[in-house]
Amino acid sequence: MSIPSVPLLINGEFVQSKTTEWRDVVNPATQEVIARVPMATQEELDAAVAAAKEAFKTWRYTPIGTRARIFLKLQQLIRENIKEVAAILTREQGKTLPDAEGDVFRGLEVVEHAANIGTLQMGEFANNVAGGVDTYTILQPLGVCAGITPFNFPAMIPLWMFPMAIATGNTFVLKPSEQDPMSTIRLCELALEAGIPAGVLNVVHGGVDVVNGICDHKDIKAISFVGSTGVGTHVYNRASLAGKRVQCMMGAKNHAIVLPDCNKEQTLNALAGASFGAAGQRCMALPVVILVGEARNWVDEIAERAKGLKVGNGATPGVDVGPLVNKNARARVDNLIASGVEQGATLVLDGRNPQLEGAEANGNFVGPTLFKDVTVDMDIYKQEIFGPVMCVMGAETLEEAIQIINDNPNGNGTALFTQSGAAAHKFQEEIDVGQVGINVPIPVPVPLFSFTGSRASKLGDLGPYGKQVITFYTQTKTITKRWFDEANAGGVHTTISLK
Ligand code: NAD
Repeated sequence: MSIPSVPLLINGEFVQSKTTEWRDVVNPATQEVIARVPMATQEELDAAVAAAKEAFKTWRYTPIGTRARIFLKLQQLIRENIKEVAAILTREQGKTLPDAEGDVFRGLEVVEHAANIGTLQMGEFANNVAGGVDTYTILQPLGVCAGITPFNFPAMIPLWMFPMAIATGNTFVLKPSEQDPMSTIRLCELALEAGIPAGVLNVVHGGVDVVNGICDHKDIKAISFVGSTGVGTHVYNRASLAGKRVQCMMGAKNHAIVLPDCNKEQTLNALAGASFGAAGQRCMALPVVILVGEARNWVDEIAERAKGLKVGNGATPGVDVGPLVNKNARARVDNLIASGVEQGATLVLDGRNPQLEGAEANGNFVGPTLFKDVTVDMDIYKQEIFGPVMCVMGAETLEEAIQIINDNPNGNGTALFTQSGAAAHKFQEEIDVGQVGINVPIPVPVPLFSFTGSRASKLGDLGPYGKQVITFYTQTKTITKRWFDEANAGGVHTTISLK
């Protein structure tokens, strides 16, 4: 059976790349090669950007209502096809089918918001700022914008980007993760079916060279990046130097604090779900848990929950923890677990080498893994493991636990588990992290708000969806206007003041 090639999308056509460089898309549960993805050439990137630049000439003047209706249609098409997109996603990425549906659904929510953002793109108006003079602002689209996305949410994160950019009047070039580009391409097919005109949305595949080409391209005005801290920092620096507006959402090391007065049953369940779900490959996962006071005795009960989770192919009903995305990721996580043991942490539950049968025997599986007695100098604490590994630490007080989190360089997400309003208030005020959960383990904001990671987890001021992204994808123009009539005709004024 021949292996399909993932197409590029240029000027409204899905086309095959002419590159000589290809990479396999592999089912991480079985190692089956399911497609080949091209590393697009510079000419193909140029063609995508040129199509977007040309389309911008008319798209920027398309009425707000016309743009909105396309996204109303797109949300309907995604809803109708959600199971199909989720099945593609599980096959290429590994997460369980219900979690893959969640991935699509969280993106769908942004599409719904994109259909409604008209009021957010309205300017301001001040009447009579001087005699007969009014001042107002208009929020105009920038032009060609680009998005670079990671492997772990191949539906949600592309949908954080292109709907908002396009709904505000920009045109777009998307560079999905080369590890799992097929669900993203299926969503782009639906976007064209919904009525996005030729050239308004384009897709190029690739790795380092294509990303650098996007950073350097003279006709791209803004870049939205989501991925690791190292790559995001490179993209931010390189593209900023090339004069672009850039936002980068990057790596994380999220901590939960557990106070002994919390609802214990619900808290322990939430911790297990947030640490081991999606095999720990979420930027908002909870890989570090700080148990405070008497809660330090709860490690065995966390281990019981971890042991109860089923590891396997995400396409199999009843599986809780799918594979890691590729062989290198598995080897890296296995090595980090070994380093934790060497550096003195206590391995309560070892998920290395889970025994699976049949096609899954070769999958990239690591089962839930639990460490206690973790300290801040260990590699398992310092590095983003991005695997199903929970590191448990202890603290005497809430203050001490808050200090540990504030001393960590990352600021993506955090959660506190307590029934005390006073403790929750203190946490909300003193914690130096962008997204805060109170009894909510993975507090990813809905699209009425914006994604607000901070410190080392983010570069750039504005988040990738919600209200903030309207500012990111538009240029504010301030117009000060007067109409002359006989009454205000005067002589020559050489001062700056408006009269
Ligand atoms: P990654 O940084 O390896 O890849 C992201 C994108 O950059 C991909 O499109 C990839 O093709 C490209 N890329 C990879 N290496 C590159 C290089 N050397 N030069 C230029 N481009 C390169 O990230 P990933 O492994 O796909 O995703 C996991 C990471 O993303 C984790 O660190 C996770 O925390 C982070 N993430 C962050 C958020 C957030 O909102 N903060 C959300 C999801 C994922």
